Amino acid sequence: MNKLAALGGTAVVPRHLRHVQWPLVEEEDRKAVLDALDGARLVSNSDGANPVSALESQWARHFGFDHCVAVSTGTAALSLALAALGVGPGDEVIVPALSFIATGLAPVHQMAVPVFADVDPVTFNLDPDDVERRITERTAAIIPVHLHGAPADMDRILDIARRHGLAVIEDAAQAPGATHRGRPVGGLGDVGAFSLQATKNIPTCGEGGLLVTGNAELAATVRRGRQFGEVIEAGQDRDYVSHGLGWNHKMNAIQAAFTSSQLARFDGYEHARQQNIARFLARLGELPGLRIPVARAGTTHVWHILRFRFDPAAFGLDGVRPEALRATLRRLLRAEGVPISQYQLMPLPDQKVFVDRVGFGSGYPWTVTGATRPPAGEGHPVARAVIADSLTLQKRHLHPESGDLLQRYADAFEKVWANADMVATLTAGAS
Ligand SMILES: *Cc1c(COP(=O)(O)O)cnc(C)c1O
Repeated sequence: MNKLAALGGTAVVPRHLRHVQWPLVEEEDRKAVLDALDGARLVSNSDGANPVSALESQWARHFGFDHCVAVSTGTAALSLALAALGVGPGDEVIVPALSFIATGLAPVHQMAVPVFADVDPVTFNLDPDDVERRITERTAAIIPVHLHGAPADMDRILDIARRHGLAVIEDAAQAPGATHRGRPVGGLGDVGAFSLQATKNIPTCGEGGLLVTGNAELAATVRRGRQFGEVIEAGQDRDYVSHGLGWNHKMNAIQAAFTSSQLARFDGYEHARQQNIARFLARLGELPGLRIPVARAGTTHVWHILRFRFDPAAFGLDGVRPEALRATLRRLLRAEGVPISQYQLMPLPDQKVFVDRVGFGSGYPWTVTGATRPPAGEGHPVARAVIADSLTLQKRHLHPESGDLLQRYADAFEKVWANADMVATLTAGAS
C-alpha cells in the first residue's frame, strides 16, 4: 500500500470515487427549470414578476444587498460596473496580477488601461501597499478580487480609495457568501460583481452574472446598460427608446430559475463544505513544506479553490527550485488520484493580450494614456512566486458530500510525504 502509485503501487483514491458532479442537480432544480420553460417570460426584457427579477430579489435578500441586477456573465457584470461608474478612455484601473483573465479584460472593454498590482503571499489578494504605489492621476478605480473565496484586505483598500477618490468594484466571482467583518463581500465597495458560471460556488446551468450595489442610481444605470440603454418602467410596456449607451447583457429565465433553486440550498452546502474542508486542511497542515490556505482574522473564506504552496527548504530539499518540487508532487499526487493542477499559468500582465496590447485598433486603449510598456516577464514578484510554487484543488470539494473524498486526498498527501526520499530523488533527477 505504501508504494507510490506513480511507481506501480495502488492508488489511494479508487477510480470509481474520482468523478464528482458539479453543479449538483437535484429534482427541485429540474422542476425550477421546467417551470421557467413553461412560464410566459423567458427573458428579462419586460418588467414584472419573472424568474430573473425573482433571482435578483432573492439574492439581495439572502446576502443583505440593497440592489441586485442580473446579467449574462460575471465578465459583463464587471464591464457594466465600470461603465456605470463612468470609467472609460484615459482612465487606469488597478487590478491584481493574480486573477482570472476577465478581471484584466473588463477595463479594456471600457477602453481603460488595466494596471497590475502584486498580491499578498498568504491570501493571494491585492497587496494594498503595491496598489498605493501604482496610483497615478489617471487612476479611476480599483478592482479587488476575492480570489479563491478569500476576502481581500477591504479595510485598507477602501481607505486608499477614499483618500484618492477612486471607485471600488469588488470582483466577487469566486466568493459569494464570504464575509469581511461580518459583512458579505460584494457589498463593501461601490459595486460587487458575481459570476454564476457553472463551476462557481453558486452556479447556474451555464453562464450568468449578478451585480450588487447600495446605490439606487448606479443600479438603474446598470439596468439600462444591460438592455440597449432602455428604461423599463414598472407595469408599463417596453417602449424601445434608448436613453444611452447600452449592450445586450440580459440573463435568461432558465439560468435564473436554476440559480434560485441552488441558492435555496446554499447555506446547507456551505455549512457542510466548511466542516469538510476544515478537517482536510487540519491534516494537511501537519505536513512539512506544505502551506495550506487560511482565512484571515475577521473573515470567512468560502474555499472556491484550495491553493497549496510548497516550500522546498522546509520539505528538506534545500536549494531545489520550487517548480521542480511542484512538478514531482503534481505527478505523484495525480497518480494517487488527487486531481491537483495549476490555476493560472502566468501572472495576468504576462498574458499575450496585455504584452502585445491587442486592444481596439492601433493599440487602444494603451495609446490613449501613453502607458509605457513594462518589461515582459518581470515585476509582481509575489504573484510569480505563488504561481511557481503552488498547486490547486478545484470544484470537487464544492460538493457538500465530498468529506470522505477529501479524507482520501489527505491519505494520498500523507503517503507521498511518507515517501519523501523518493520525492527528493525524483526531483533531483528532473532538475
Ligand atoms: C469566473 C470569474 C470571472 C468571470 O465570470 P464569468 O461569469 O465566467 O464571465 C471574473 N473574475 C473571476 C475572479 C472569476 O473567477
